[in-house]
Amino acid sequence: MTIKEYIKARKEEIKAEVAAMAKKPNLVIVQLNEDEASKAYVKGKLKDAAELGINAKLLKFPVEMSEKALLKEIAKLNKDKKVDGFIVQMPLPKQINEETIKLAVAPEKDVDGFHPMSALNPCTPQGIMNYLKHEGVEFLGKNAVVIGRSNIVGKPMAKMLLKESCNVTVLHSKTSKEDMTRYLKYADIVVVAVGRKHLITKEFEFKPSAILVDVGINRDEEGLHGDIEPGMPVALQTPVPGGVGLLTRLALMENLLKIGR
Ligand code: NAP
Repeated sequence: MTIKEYIKARKEEIKAEVAAMAKKPNLVIVQLNEDEASKAYVKGKLKDAAELGINAKLLKFPVEMSEKALLKEIAKLNKDKKVDGFIVQMPLPKQINEETIKLAVAPEKDVDGFHPMSALNPCTPQGIMNYLKHEGVEFLGKNAVVIGRSNIVGKPMAKMLLKESCNVTVLHSKTSKEDMTRYLKYADIVVVAVGRKHLITKEFEFKPSAILVDVGINRDEEGLHGDIEPGMPVALQTPVPGGVGLLTRLALMENLLKIGR
């Protein structure tokens, strides 16, 4: 099933689940930044919630808001019994430390799964795992390579693949091209979360049965591009746009439902 078909089918299931709930889940989205990417992400999340019958409210604050003032708002949301879960849209303006904010969100309301004590996984790796499992991808004893080691994508992705008994290798900016070439050649599952347009090209050799998951979102005048060159000769390559971004959005709603239940 393509990602678009999968999302459509899962949305129908979630819609039915929400319709059967006596109390609809309440989500709050906190937004400070007004750049095109942040606006697009928030718009997408509000659209998904509306489509699924989830109550979502946008709480917009000025971009110059201080960290102290934002922490005060987060404390209010943590206490508000009407709010099942909330997210603070990242990235945040420079005067605010993102790690401080991630730790301020009560773990039991942390729909993004960013808090180390959160019972939920971050949405991007969770969305990817859900899709790969739905597609019947085998994990046990397979060679998985994750490129990128951020706290919100690379590291939790590696942890989740390890939990499924993959042999996991994590590569990063200090990995030589020679080593990257070597690891990729034997990989069964590759997740690239770097943020460099077409870092992975056809110059690298892959198994024809390999599964390539492209997390990267790179914007330029021509539009959105992934970290992997399109049209790789492999069994499955997720597209950009219309790939992991959609899986991440879906996982956010699934995380909220896990809290709201
Ligand atoms: P990040 O925090 O900037 O981390 C990037 C990682 O890539 C770092 O670990 C870095 O290594 C590594 N890296 C940088 N250059 C490299 C190179 N030449 N070769 C190998 N590794 C390299 O980024 P992130 O938040 O994980 O996001 C990564 C990308 O995914 C971005 O394009 C972002 O926009 C996108 N993203 C998409 C979604 C979605 O829903 N589709 C969600 C989240 C993120 P070091 O640790 O050594 O610096």
